[in-house]
Amino acid sequence: MVEVNRKITYRLYPTTKQESVLLEILRLHQQLYNAALEQRISAYRKQKVSLSYVDQAKELTKLRAEFPEYKSLNAQSEQVTLTRLDLAFQHFFRRVKLGEKKAGFPRFKSLNRYPGWGYKTHGDGWRFEMGNKLKHGQLRLSGVGQLRIRGEARNQGNAKTLEIQYKQGRWYASVTLATTPTRMSGTAAIGIDWGVETFATIASSDNSCTAVDNPRTLKKKLKLLKTKQRNLSKKTRGSNNRNKACQQVAKLHGKVANQRKEFLHQTTAKLVNTSSLIAVEQLNIKNMTTSGGSYKKGLNREILSTAPSGFHQMLKYKAEEAGVEWIEIPTKVVKPSQTCHMCGRQEKKSLATRWHSCPCGFFCSRDENAAKVILHWALFGRANGWEPARCGGETLVFPMKHETLSIAALAV
Ligand SMILES: [Zn+2]
Repeated sequence: MVEVNRKITYRLYPTTKQESVLLEILRLHQQLYNAALEQRISAYRKQKVSLSYVDQAKELTKLRAEFPEYKSLNAQSEQVTLTRLDLAFQHFFRRVKLGEKKAGFPRFKSLNRYPGWGYKTHGDGWRFEMGNKLKHGQLRLSGVGQLRIRGEARNQGNAKTLEIQYKQGRWYASVTLATTPTRMSGTAAIGIDWGVETFATIASSDNSCTAVDNPRTLKKKLKLLKTKQRNLSKKTRGSNNRNKACQQVAKLHGKVANQRKEFLHQTTAKLVNTSSLIAVEQLNIKNMTTSGGSYKKGLNREILSTAPSGFHQMLKYKAEEAGVEWIEIPTKVVKPSQTCHMCGRQEKKSLATRWHSCPCGFFCSRDENAAKVILHWALFGRANGWEPARCGGETLVFPMKHETLSIAALAV
């Protein structure tokens, strides 16, 4: 099996003394980041020069010679911080090129919002040791010492890179391991429609169609989050009450994110476990969310909050690990929500239309139909060059000999 990189996040438990050292390192990286940003801005203003990562990395030697505190930091980790700034600029330039309104020029970061720092080569400034039975372990950071870490890996692997993160008063270590994972797969072929009302609808080659909903606990927390956020907006800026409310919201955000991640892990693992082929729609969140009226605004929030890209990513890597065939349906060609999975007829549906009912006599929920179209295309259409253009205009006809097959496979 191929070697793949996996990130495992551990919680760090520093002693009080270690924590003050960690905070000092965080502050130095934050200052380095801001100074490098300042340098890029003024070089551009004064000399119309765009500094690159290489330009700035060269100056690290000088910086380290002049300031002992920077000399005490791991040199590679300083390069990582400059790389992060460089990435922020690359993203910015890409968005400008695309003509996006909010291109997001890289911003100065306050210590409160500074996310952390990273290390490159294992053994250079850090050493990671996984604990017994893949659980917990030890992390040694130069200048900080041995740290207790808690977390669990799925596989043994070689440590490659490390990121130290500081979030809401907690420390985390995200270790990238090169591993050769093993995962079981199943026999079913499934098509997945990811939706707004239902988290995912799954059509299987065994004729079943199941809906996966967001867990109730998660829904409850989301509701609570909404209330708390409303409370927060009523508080006066700078007041103690506002700070308290702010902390509460941040804490709840973290909880919601964790719960969602857990849910995604469980759902994707289960799907891969039972499948030999998984077909999904190509996702383009940007197109789905950039325009639209007030109805779409509410919808936007929902779309983003169900974390579809995270779902796809997890499902995809788990499918790869298990050797499950992974097919992304060209949405613009197949149009899962507008096509009847029985007869192939296409008709536009508005986002509000939740039912699919076709003149051919077939009707079911919109999501179920879409999931079946996706599966159908993966199983039969793809191999037969099923494209609407070839069938001329609106009506899309499946090749006859496969039609019987596909209906047999998908009949309700
Ligand atoms: Zn039909």
